[in-house]
Amino acid sequence: MKNSVWTHILGNTWCLELHVTIPVFFLNSREVVLLDTGYADLDRPALLAALQEKNVTVRAVLGSHSHNDHNGSHAYFQKHHGAEIILQETEAAIVSDFPLMTAAYAPATAEELRRELPHLLLHADRTFSAEPQTLEIEGAAFRLIPLPGHTPGHTGIVTPDDVLYVGDAAVDEETLQKAKLPSTWNWMQDFQSKKTLRGLRHPAYILAHRGVRTEIAELVDRNIQDKLRRADEIADWLREQGPMTQNGVECLLWNKLGLHSQRFFPQVIFRRNVQCALEYLVRSGAVRWEFRNGTQYYSA
Ligand SMILES: [Zn+2]
Repeated sequence: MKNSVWTHILGNTWCLELHVTIPVFFLNSREVVLLDTGYADLDRPALLAALQEKNVTVRAVLGSHSHNDHNGSHAYFQKHHGAEIILQETEAAIVSDFPLMTAAYAPATAEELRRELPHLLLHADRTFSAEPQTLEIEGAAFRLIPLPGHTPGHTGIVTPDDVLYVGDAAVDEETLQKAKLPSTWNWMQDFQSKKTLRGLRHPAYILAHRGVRTEIAELVDRNIQDKLRRADEIADWLREQGPMTQNGVECLLWNKLGLHSQRFFPQVIFRRNVQCALEYLVRSGAVRWEFRNGTQYYSA
């Protein structure tokens, strides 16, 4: 029976199987680098217990992207462990101020984000640009692979043991099945990044949602097919309806997808995801929009 949340992958690369999978690189017997930190509420207690079990502190956090299920404890470790927080420059900007955070969580306002996600506010200690590059932490070299689309600065991270953390660039079958609408900021870029990911060869891949794989190409194909199918399905639903406003589309998808959440944050994420999906459908030519009498209408 598995009595620990720790899974050893290769060399000094491990991961923690919590609500999300968090990769951990051991710099030495006392210090680790975390690649993301999971949810603040759901993951932090188990994460702290796991670190205590190994008697290690967090020397640095190297983040894949600024979504609340992956950066929930960045600020916590900066404050309580003196961890260096290292983020892609756009992702760092997003969490540096609540007005900028609206870029990731529109249509939520800055005030609503201050109320809902106060723990995400953070000033990164080091940032990196959106180019493939190597970054050193205490002499350990991590390779950075830009995989934008899920968020503007989403980044894949290769540990010194050649293990690739794909972040949210691909998810496992169970997550695909459960998701109602993908969280994708720019679908076109995301498709391109998935093709990039498909061509990368590593001995092991860590998925934030979730687990560890030794092969990724087939799963990436499944992720691409799943998104294309969802886009077709949304276009079909719009075709049945005739021209609709964005609110009309939100209402249509809310009902078609069988959503019920009364909570503020899932509603915000749903509305953001509808907007991003519509942008993709317009760019791909499946949906048109026109501005008539002060109102924007979408039709397929
Ligand atoms: Zn994400």
